[in-house]
Amino acid sequence: PAPYKGGADNLAALMKKAVEMIDNLRPAPGGTAFLGNSTKLDYSYPDVKKCRIPQKAESVNKVMSDCVNLFKGMPDVSSPLTMSNVWPQPNNASIIASMLPLIFAPNIIEGEYAWNVHKAELESGGMLADLFEWDPAKSGAVYTYGGSGCWFYGLKYAITRVLPGSREKGVRTDGKVLVSAQAHYCRQNATDWSGLGMDNVVVIPTDPESNKMDLNALESKLKELTEQGIPVIEVVCTMGTTDASVFDPIADVRRLLDKYPNPKGYGKALLYADAVCGWSWQTFRYYDFEKNPLGFSPEALRVIKKNYDEIKGIHYADAVGIDFHKFGFSPYISSCFVYKDAAEFENIMRRGSYAYLQEVTPYNPMYYTLEVSRTASGSLAGWATLKYLGIEGLQAVLGGILEVRLYMDSLVEKQTEMVMADADDTGFITLFRVYPEGTDAREQFARELNDRGSRAELLCNNRLQQAIGEKMFEWYLSGHKIDGKPTPHIAYSTGFRNASWNEDGSDAEGTVYALKTYPMNVYNNPSVMDHVITCVLAARDEVEKEME
Ligand SMILES: *Cc1c(COP(=O)(O)O)cnc(C)c1O
Repeated sequence: PAPYKGGADNLAALMKKAVEMIDNLRPAPGGTAFLGNSTKLDYSYPDVKKCRIPQKAESVNKVMSDCVNLFKGMPDVSSPLTMSNVWPQPNNASIIASMLPLIFAPNIIEGEYAWNVHKAELESGGMLADLFEWDPAKSGAVYTYGGSGCWFYGLKYAITRVLPGSREKGVRTDGKVLVSAQAHYCRQNATDWSGLGMDNVVVIPTDPESNKMDLNALESKLKELTEQGIPVIEVVCTMGTTDASVFDPIADVRRLLDKYPNPKGYGKALLYADAVCGWSWQTFRYYDFEKNPLGFSPEALRVIKKNYDEIKGIHYADAVGIDFHKFGFSPYISSCFVYKDAAEFENIMRRGSYAYLQEVTPYNPMYYTLEVSRTASGSLAGWATLKYLGIEGLQAVLGGILEVRLYMDSLVEKQTEMVMADADDTGFITLFRVYPEGTDAREQFARELNDRGSRAELLCNNRLQQAIGEKMFEWYLSGHKIDGKPTPHIAYSTGFRNASWNEDGSDAEGTVYALKTYPMNVYNNPSVMDHVITCVLAARDEVEKEME
């Protein structure tokens, strides 16, 4: 780019062209759930690594068009047919906001190189702390590299608080990290990379009905650790699991944690809320459930109220992790680690001064962040999202998609050959099983679930779910059409729960497979879901034909 305005700098023109080129990969209305014309994978592995740096410079136009071509064939996050995972289409304001820092390269390591761009992180921290009913002036926030980065920040904060000597001497005490059985698997990344060790994760069982952390089990573990003189590093409450949207009972966890303080010589255990998936339900703190101004259906309102009632205790946490790139409808990576007591966190994590950098503004997070250089892309994406959608926008998007999911449930319920595999979920997922033609799905599933004698049937129908899931994927990849419309990109799960006769999981195969839809797109609607049902039944018929 040119140094001055008005010259031959054609960055804006090139950007416009690049965005137009990539926009052109979108299908025509009613088109496939992938970008471009084909899903052909354009490389072979590991041969692809034979690429070499070209001797001569290539033109920017050539590099741009090669770059746009890389997007051909990938799943289209903007398609209403895309419903395979927690994978939202980023909102326009967040896309644009996160592109701008690429031009002038603010480095949010410290004030001198970020200047006013730091307001995005600082104001996000204020807005989010306020959302969680903390004092924004006393709280703090840093954007980092993902929900797993937030988890890592939480763990490091906890280790530093409980084992202050660990910063210089290393972690020399087997303190414990207590999580529920439903906690995200990034607990392994965090405990492994921190050096605390994966063996120091203690998994607290969950209630088989609600999937929440079992408080009796938590209390007996806390009691046992106290008696043995073993410190608790942190307890993690998952506030919204990725699939089923389960919230741990954080107020009760706080009460128990306070009841069993760490032995003498150790700091106070941390309570971390992994709310990367569930945080935005907290916006319903400001919803008038009586007047229901956004006009949600009674059923949606009931689910929203339930989610809000479960997340509202989040203020009991010492720190919270947030992903804007999940239920904040923003680009990767825009995760924010928010902590209640900025004075404590920023003090105990403080490193000395740096010869390279001088403080010229009041905000210089380089002294306590994990990263050195940090991009402003995430902070601007999160900040722009909060401003662009606002409380009401987030409520409307969450509630609107929830309506679609509830509609999907109602369609499954109308089908005699389909059954909901998990009817109580309060998130966006519908997990369902499809049975051979003529089967009474409810009766059959109840048998498979509750009667060990039906184990063979469970396994056989698990294979059917998998075959239908694979058929659906094959159809999606090939742009197959049913009733003149491309088939959706959905998913299947190979064991989101054990059969009831296999609660302890001793039979590794005694799990429930299910097809899954995870709508995240504001353009999804009832007619898309009607089509999903038609396609799934057609896939089942096709699979049955092939099995004969
Ligand atoms: C997705 C997720 C994570 C990991 O977050 P990334 O942004 O993928 O790093 C952690 N915890 C929960 C509950 C999640 O849903």
